[in-house]
Amino acid sequence: MKMPPEQITLEQWDKRYPLLKAQGLQERFYGGPLGRHAEYGDTRLRSLKLDNSPAALALWNLLLSENERLHRARAEGRKIVGTMKDLGTVPVLADCFKNVTAFYPDGAWWTPCLMEQNEGLFESASQYGFDESFCPVRAMVGAFINGEHFPIPDALICSTGAICDDVSAITQKLVQLGFAMHWWEMPRRRMPDEGEESALLPCGWKAPRVQVEFVQAELAGVKSVLEALTGRQLVTKDLRRGIQRANGFRRILNELRLLVYTADPCPMGSLEMLAAEMLALHYCSDYTEATLVLEALLDEVGERLLAATGVLAADTARVFWVNPPADLRAMNLLEECGGRVCGTEYLFAHTLAEIREDIEPLEALARTALADPMVGSTHERAEYICRQAVRFGAEGVVISRIGGASHCAVEGRVIGQAVRDALEIPVVETEIQTLCDSADSQLRTRLEALVENIKQRRSS
Ligand code: SF4
Repeated sequence: MKMPPEQITLEQWDKRYPLLKAQGLQERFYGGPLGRHAEYGDTRLRSLKLDNSPAALALWNLLLSENERLHRARAEGRKIVGTMKDLGTVPVLADCFKNVTAFYPDGAWWTPCLMEQNEGLFESASQYGFDESFCPVRAMVGAFINGEHFPIPDALICSTGAICDDVSAITQKLVQLGFAMHWWEMPRRRMPDEGEESALLPCGWKAPRVQVEFVQAELAGVKSVLEALTGRQLVTKDLRRGIQRANGFRRILNELRLLVYTADPCPMGSLEMLAAEMLALHYCSDYTEATLVLEALLDEVGERLLAATGVLAADTARVFWVNPPADLRAMNLLEECGGRVCGTEYLFAHTLAEIREDIEPLEALARTALADPMVGSTHERAEYICRQAVRFGAEGVVISRIGGASHCAVEGRVIGQAVRDALEIPVVETEIQTLCDSADSQLRTRLEALVENIKQRRSS
């Protein structure tokens, strides 16, 4: 029997799972009860409220089984490629090869949260000089050293140039430790000079054509590295196919975002939506499975919309969320405080945008890479956030600062001011730690104040 939508604890999920199985729930090869992930170390799940649908079950199982699936891919003879920092472009290129599986080792960013810092990755990183003055991406150092969270890739590809100091310093250390790296340069995006030939980018930005050509040449270098690794040359047809696959995925995700972020009552919680958006980065190492997961979420949301049901009360305060929170629990906390997420910019807006299919494929990928919100000015990012906040009818904005992150020392202030000036809606800028329990009451107070402010403005 179909259950009404609800956010439930892990304990409740583990009681629900056998009932679903008894009712004939079919799962993919990575399926199973969610409680097993907590037993294996992802103990943060015990502090989260999770959506009770089979679609959400599949989403979490896909995300939390990535390490096993990467090992399986290697055992099947696939080349494992670690791509770093560009967030969403090189995996599209890698996906054009039939025997390559790409993933982001920087995804270890979340491991200390999921494992509640019992895995020792931050301590290990500290031994190499990466203390809390670096953002959670420092966990990647420990993961490379102990080899327990992902298989050591057959090739590492990292963008350099307009990237944050954290990844720059850490990846240089990895090279020093003996991990070979192919670097490709990403220039800082600049506005075209007057009269300078320019190109339109996804997200509405522009860049000088000369920058697009430069990045295109850099991506051609990445393509050559992958060709040497696989012994197979990519032709234009392969590249076009990879881009079409990426766009197919992005279209489903964008449809899901539009439905969830605009429907009332909210049909899917912000935690599952954060996880779903992250799938776009590298398909969680499996394009087919990630697509199936996304389609199931879309179906679930569609059914909830038809039934006019959701996981939150109607008329909940609509909040646009900026930056990924270091602690996943923060998303639940906003909802417990009477808010809901109605739009996001998690540092990878360019990965949600469709890639041009009507131009030379590497040029299209170069334009996408240059649309990375992190390689241009903070003012441009702030302007994009304002546009999206308007699009989704946001009544307030949360800017979650990331402890130690070199990219966000002052950007929160710039974005916050831009939102206040342009939209005249309340903004909360707050640091969210990897485990926000100790700051829970302070964070809760700030989120409750934001929600209260929004509700007062509605009635005034
Ligand atoms: S959170 Fe910021 S500083 Fe950390 S890896 Fe991402 S972009 Fe770099």
